[in-house]
Amino acid sequence: MLNSPLLQQISSYIDGKWINASNRGVIAVTNPANGEHLADVPDLGATETTSAVEAAARALLARASLDERARWLTQIHQALLENKHELARIITLEQGKPLKESIAEVEYAAGFFHFCAANMGQLESHSLPGRIRGSEWKIHHRPAGVVGLITPWNFPLAMLAKKFASAIAAGCAVVAKPADLTPLTCIALWQILDQFHLPAGRFNLVIGKAGPIGEVLCAHPAVRLISFTGSTVVGRLLMAQAAPYVKRLALELGGNAPFMVFDDADIEAAVNALMLNKFRCAGQTCVCANRVLVARSVQKDFTDAIAARVAALRVGDGLDASTDIGPLINRGAVEKVNRHVTDALSKGGRQIVEVKLDPALSPNGHFRAPVVLGDLPRNAEMLVEETFGPVVGITAFDSDEDAVTLANSTIHGLAAYVFTRNTDRMQRVVSQLRFGHVGLNTGAGPTPEAPFGGMKQSGIGREGGIEGMLEFCESQTTVQL
Ligand code: ADP
Repeated sequence: MLNSPLLQQISSYIDGKWINASNRGVIAVTNPANGEHLADVPDLGATETTSAVEAAARALLARASLDERARWLTQIHQALLENKHELARIITLEQGKPLKESIAEVEYAAGFFHFCAANMGQLESHSLPGRIRGSEWKIHHRPAGVVGLITPWNFPLAMLAKKFASAIAAGCAVVAKPADLTPLTCIALWQILDQFHLPAGRFNLVIGKAGPIGEVLCAHPAVRLISFTGSTVVGRLLMAQAAPYVKRLALELGGNAPFMVFDDADIEAAVNALMLNKFRCAGQTCVCANRVLVARSVQKDFTDAIAARVAALRVGDGLDASTDIGPLINRGAVEKVNRHVTDALSKGGRQIVEVKLDPALSPNGHFRAPVVLGDLPRNAEMLVEETFGPVVGITAFDSDEDAVTLANSTIHGLAAYVFTRNTDRMQRVVSQLRFGHVGLNTGAGPTPEAPFGGMKQSGIGREGGIEGMLEFCESQTTVQL
């Protein structure tokens, strides 16, 4: 069992109280590095979710001022940094990523609270200049209401923080549902919140099987917005479930990011960027390069350089300081990677390098050796579906038009990366790409200060930046003679 000062309670939190029992049993949380049982969390369902929504609706009757909300955000920001190491340890234990990445995740998460606290002024009501049609016009940013936040397992803290900080800033009341594979980090966060004695019902945490909780969040009339990060399949399902109630949705879905290396690129810089971008969280992020598209004339140089770097990666337990790549989240994730590699090889792809796993690693860990595949054929499954694992698959392109067509030939449009030294080419290519986040000679992902989100079926709405805060507001216009 996991022993942590931040996990004195291992349960959900509704209406200012810990909910320790459930007649549906428990959700067992395990460490993906060794299969060790970490904790049992009571499995809550529709009844408790309804209670949480109703508590949130009651809490909203008492309005919180901008100053008060800014104070909450600042408190949370500080507490996350004060508890950084323990939160990071919990993330690594339940998610598997290397400890240094978990620490970076806590700092990144804290940044959203800091950004929102510092920008509350953007949510002040404001008058339009002058008199229009003989009247005074004023715009108010009202809270959307009770909001449901549904988050995935790859960043147990950061994916929640992006939504939560904006929801608090906007004055919403929250019902959060983390992934049942990684609920402990959120429980630790709620233990921190509990110490602040915030108004009961304003911030609720419901842990349980996804289906019944999602159905209540979609169907309960008090919930006015669902903010979801996860798979496109579940995103579509939530849209369908929420449609009869004309409910707002903010969706951050799958990525299938292209990483485009043109013939004039700085190959060393592109390789460095790909190593950082591709292998974070063992390749399990929605902004990870999934399709590495390289100009045919530099394909060999690029492939040799990336293979040499990948060969040096160390796979291990995230708590081990020498680990570069932790385990994948579960057996299914390893099987998906294996399926994609087998498919690529059967269609003519070549295995360039595969890291050898240390035989001392726990046989119960979900480890997958990083691999580089060259000459990836265009009909490979890996080009269509996100692999979500430590695989670099390289596909050659023959012209700028070919590269752009290939990059855009996906239902997704979240992140893309372009490597070229030619500014004209860069501008032209970027203007043709249908992706919400584009790295130009960098593999950098999102930041709290900037809006981030997908085009096409990668989602609706933006997280981060002022846009992310406004996502949780309803604007109300008043006109007065
Ligand atoms: P992934 O493939 O990354 O696990 P999912 O979309 O399955 O992504 O999960 C993301 C989040 O959505 C998790 O919190 C998960 O429990 C939740 N989820 C999965 N299915 C549903 C559903 N039917 N309704 C609501 N939430 C769901």
